[in-house]
Amino acid sequence: MKERWSLYLHVPFCRTRCNYCDFVTSSKHGDLIAPYIDALCAEITITADRLIVREPVHSVYFGGGTPSLLPAAQAAKILATIRSAFELTDDAEITLETNPGDLTAERAAVLREMGVNRLSIGMQSGHDDELRLMGRRHTLADTVCAVKTARDAGFENLSLDLIFGYPNQSAAAWCESLELACALRPDHLSLYAMSIESRTPLARTIRSGKLAELSDDLLADRYDFAVDFLERRGWNRYEISNWSQDPEFESRHNKQYWKLDPYLGFGAAAHGFIAHTRTRNVLNTAAYLRRINRAGQSRSAFPAAAEIQRQSQEDEMRDTMIFGLRLLREGVDLNRFADRFGVRAEAVFADFIREHAAANRIIVADGRARLNPRCAFVSNQIFVDLI
Ligand code: SF4
Repeated sequence: MKERWSLYLHVPFCRTRCNYCDFVTSSKHGDLIAPYIDALCAEITITADRLIVREPVHSVYFGGGTPSLLPAAQAAKILATIRSAFELTDDAEITLETNPGDLTAERAAVLREMGVNRLSIGMQSGHDDELRLMGRRHTLADTVCAVKTARDAGFENLSLDLIFGYPNQSAAAWCESLELACALRPDHLSLYAMSIESRTPLARTIRSGKLAELSDDLLADRYDFAVDFLERRGWNRYEISNWSQDPEFESRHNKQYWKLDPYLGFGAAAHGFIAHTRTRNVLNTAAYLRRINRAGQSRSAFPAAAEIQRQSQEDEMRDTMIFGLRLLREGVDLNRFADRFGVRAEAVFADFIREHAAANRIIVADGRARLNPRCAFVSNQIFVDLI
């Protein structure tokens, strides 16, 4: 099958900063949005012009930050630039991450009209007190309203994000969040374990003793509860942190990463992987704008890159295993691996497969290597043996 590419667009702005967040985003963006979008469009055009080969694009992802705070006209401008720079397939998945409070009926209609066909809505919790503790701007009512608004506008592919393991989160509160999320009938769910990053306000609150971090055992309990809860309701658990109502709603864009297929990243801090090369753009927004302004001074296809790293075959084989094993349903396609690298994974990773298969942590069957789903929450302890 012909190669397909994916594009990631980073929008590093948020209205306010959530207290657990250490992403590359800023709530003090002032008048930066318009010049940033101009730079993003310039970067897309420059990269497309300078790449020797361009393949059709089958997924586009607006991530952040908070892409939903972009004026609709700015999102339309980016999509128009993509359409003139790349061939977008007719069935391209075009996702926009959305803060629940940002989705008015008018905005939803405009987004749908311009071709956005999937919204990833940051519900995070079904409890307003938890949302307040997280420093989120929205309420449960906003999420309920956003889902209805999106459906009314014709969105047939909606994903909800939830966070589990927030400090002091009770088992009952987590169960209610799951129930409330499922009651909204999304097509896709992403469940993320709260990770306490040391430089965030949340970490400082924990250090001061005002909030208690959940133990690893309790985090694992919350995850296991969600696995059982969703399994009983027939959800398709296709990746360690992701479930869909049906395989057709699995995130095409994220599967591009997990299958180590090519993608380009545009915007400050965006990552890419193309032609055996990983790229990472400069983190700082002002530095990003300067890089794009000076793009004419070089011939690089990645004018904002802070890092461009050629990947060895060993790097790619290892990453194919680590990311592929995250896909619990599909796993690593061993024949595809052999076609891609000219050597079989069973030979390259013989010790790893033998040891973990003997302990029933890896299952090799039907031409695929899969992680035993029971080991999903401790997968990093298994993947470390591949590094
Ligand atoms: S909305 Fe997302 S990116 Fe923005 S501050 Fe909150 S967690 Fe961070």
